[in-house]
Amino acid sequence: MASTRRKPCRVLLVEDDTDHRDLILSKISRVPWFPVKVQWEALASKGISILKSERFDIVLLDLSLPDSRPEETLQAFADEFPTMPIVVLTSLADEELIENAISWGAQDFLDKSTVTSELMARSLRYAIKRKESLNHLRKQNEALRTFSHTVAHELRSPLQSVVTALHLIRESALPAGDNNTLSRLVELGIDSTTHLTNLVNELLAFAKYDGENFAKEPVELSPLVEDVIREVRAFHVMDDAEVIVEGEMPVVKGAALQLRQVLLNLVSNAFKYRDERPLKVTILAKLQKNGWLISIKDNGVGISEADLPKISNLFYRVSRDTEIPGTGIGLSFSKQIIERHGGYLDVESQLDEGSNFSFFLPG
Ligand code: ADP
Repeated sequence: MASTRRKPCRVLLVEDDTDHRDLILSKISRVPWFPVKVQWEALASKGISILKSERFDIVLLDLSLPDSRPEETLQAFADEFPTMPIVVLTSLADEELIENAISWGAQDFLDKSTVTSELMARSLRYAIKRKESLNHLRKQNEALRTFSHTVAHELRSPLQSVVTALHLIRESALPAGDNNTLSRLVELGIDSTTHLTNLVNELLAFAKYDGENFAKEPVELSPLVEDVIREVRAFHVMDDAEVIVEGEMPVVKGAALQLRQVLLNLVSNAFKYRDERPLKVTILAKLQKNGWLISIKDNGVGISEADLPKISNLFYRVSRDTEIPGTGIGLSFSKQIIERHGGYLDVESQLDEGSNFSFFLPG
């Protein structure tokens, strides 16, 4: 006969204070509709090591542990076990840490002293469900990325053949300076295929970065910024732009190639979306409480209030700017990269005055 009894939920409790541990254990085991089997560890390193060898449904995690600082504990668990639901235990009245906990990948947080048994059971149950949906979405996202990568990759060679053929026709079969219908059609074909090539290349770069698993290392922003400015200037040779790097660029924690891509997108946009005034771009790093805010400010065309919320949507381009080559991928891509680093991308802009794009990196 099939049993209707629920299988116990396997909970890993990581908490160094034994009074708090006993309090949690007494509360967690009191809910009949949520049977649990709890394993307790007092150190972050022990918690991580047991998660590697045994199967758990959820982690209840205290952030202040003897071998891990509050702002590092969650990141260490989330980086190592990205699909594991984590509920943060707190007795800290640190609103900022709690807010960050959610953006760093916790499903929920519970105040140890005020939480009731029912509330804890409900929080754990929904945290598991939410993480299941997230994991499912992540898998679909990965499948979509693989698909985009394959399509973009397959398109590249035939597209290159068309581009080469059109250039050959223009150079060998059409007289120079000719402006008849055929010449104009060939020019149109070259423009469209060039746009398509840019699109395919950006899609390939976009699809290349998978999931949230990438190694974070110390990255010196100063040479990256200099390198990006050089690259963008080489692309805009005729440009008289003044580019100022204000103060020292910091060393941040992240993936150098991905951060370079973000800087490249933002600095090259500052050059692309300029108006007739002499262009001035200012790059600045500001130390915040929990990380660095890097901003790229320009005095270009600016963005209207109506367009501002949409510009980092994939493929979105402001209609006024469609004469300028672009794909509408760069900002969406940059936003994803920064969010995968646990940060955020922000923009302030005034039409006809300029824009200030900034990104926050925790660390
Ligand atoms: P792309 O530049 O390839 O169109 P992005 O995703 O980088 O794609 O940017 C999306 C849109 O946001 C651009 O088409 C442009 O209209 C607007 N935009 C981005 N950066 C700036 C900027 N610095 N100044 C004004 N508009 C900008």
